Amino acid sequence: MAAQKKRTITDIILHCTATPEGKAVTVASIKAGHLARGFKDIGYHYIIDLDGTIHKGRDESIIGAHCTGFNAHSIGISYIGGVDKNGNPKDTRTEAQKAAMARLVKELLGKYPGAKVKGHRDYSPDLNGNGTVEPCEWIKACPCFEVKTWLTTVGIKQ
Ligand SMILES: [Zn+2]
Repeated sequence: MAAQKKRTITDIILHCTATPEGKAVTVASIKAGHLARGFKDIGYHYIIDLDGTIHKGRDESIIGAHCTGFNAHSIGISYIGGVDKNGNPKDTRTEAQKAAMARLVKELLGKYPGAKVKGHRDYSPDLNGNGTVEPCEWIKACPCFEVKTWLTTVGIKQ
């Protein structure tokens, strides 16, 4: 069998599943939701469970379906959670999820040196063109935390 052609990865994009804090959501149910939306498979490449378990989604060699316009050269990672019990955006990541996310991002950066790590919301259009995508411009809140700030706390340089 021929080896699959390696994609050029320029971006590692972090997401949340936008499910309530503490709610155990299975990868199978996320996949079912994505299939219902017409995707060929689960849209993400990795899903981080509440207990820090990293589940594989699509193979990294396959283009994901997680960030419109930026899927071709990116890897999509989602943690389970992202909203509070009332459905409002919240960084619900457990300590185990944060640790697993840091580990996975570091591993991927080793594999794809120079890739930029950003949150889904950072891809919203800069409507007023001032060079910064501000909260009022976010299309959605996903992943519900400031990726740039978090990266510095886990010692990932960009
Ligand atoms: Zn997202």
